[in-house]
Amino acid sequence: MTATLIDGKASAATLRARVAAHVTRLREENGLTPGLAVVLVGEDPASQVYVGAKGRQTVEVGMASFEHRLPADTAEADLLATIRALNADPKIHGILVQLPLPSHLDSDLVINAIDPAKDVDGFHISNVGLLGTGQKAMVPCTPLGCLMLLRDLHGTLAGMEAVVIGRSNIVGKPMASLLLGESCTVTIAHSRTRDLPAVVRRADIVIAAVGRPEMVPASWIKPGATVIDVGINRIPAADGKTRLVGDVDFAAVSAIAGAITPVPGGVGPMTIACLLANTLTACCRAHGLAEPEGLTA
Ligand code: NDP
Repeated sequence: MTATLIDGKASAATLRARVAAHVTRLREENGLTPGLAVVLVGEDPASQVYVGAKGRQTVEVGMASFEHRLPADTAEADLLATIRALNADPKIHGILVQLPLPSHLDSDLVINAIDPAKDVDGFHISNVGLLGTGQKAMVPCTPLGCLMLLRDLHGTLAGMEAVVIGRSNIVGKPMASLLLGESCTVTIAHSRTRDLPAVVRRADIVIAAVGRPEMVPASWIKPGATVIDVGINRIPAADGKTRLVGDVDFAAVSAIAGAITPVPGGVGPMTIACLLANTLTACCRAHGLAEPEGLTA
């Protein structure tokens, strides 16, 4: 391996420590405790794991965690009533509705019912619009985490060629907006892109957010490029169990890239750390207090 390993676990630990230190200061100087409410509808096993991890880390940084676990057949009106109650609760500064929702619920309607100031996932249409127009927004956690890793590595990103593979609303599109905000030259690729290998080969920065195990081979990567692998894919392992891999062929690409994130241990840990950072930011904004430097875009 010649590439520098981008240690998302270590960066996430550093970010959580900064958040925790600021939370202590808020409590001591302002008598405030940031509060994060997570709403989970149904019993999707992966979602339960994520919600558990979010709750634990929220408490570890000194914030208040509120979990609302609702049955899979919850009526939309009842879910909206829960969100209205959280919007009105001054103890709650951040609200996250765990996706995906059961199919009888309209995700757009539900997400857009969250007070945009408390929308710590950054999925509300107001925050999407603010980010897209370069204004102060709540920024989606995964792309924010990727941006922090890139800034730590490179300092300024201005003028770099960035290719984002994937155009989802939660990763690809906000990632492209953030990179444009950093004055990168940005290309968004997707399943209909013609000659994807040639497009990716132009990139100084590759963001892979597709959900296809190890689809990006070394031959697509410009020597020295920085590769951020957002993908989380579970595949069968030799011992009959399963293991996690990204969207990038890590072993081969790390021989040619300049820097690369591993899976697991790259972008994943940054996502929850950024959720905590967003909750702290939302709390500071709600109370008209100065935001800590460098916790958002
Ligand atoms: P989506 O399924 O919503 O989007 C996938 C995107 O990949 C689509 O835009 C799709 O194109 C594109 N795509 C699919 N096949 C190809 C192909 N052959 N060539 C080029 N592009 C292709 O996924 P998400 O954005 O939600 O997630 C992407 C990955 O990131 C998943 O593995 C997910 O688990 C992971 N993830 C990780 C997080 C973390 O914390 N690390 C957080 C969120 C997601 P089209 O639009 O044309 O269909």
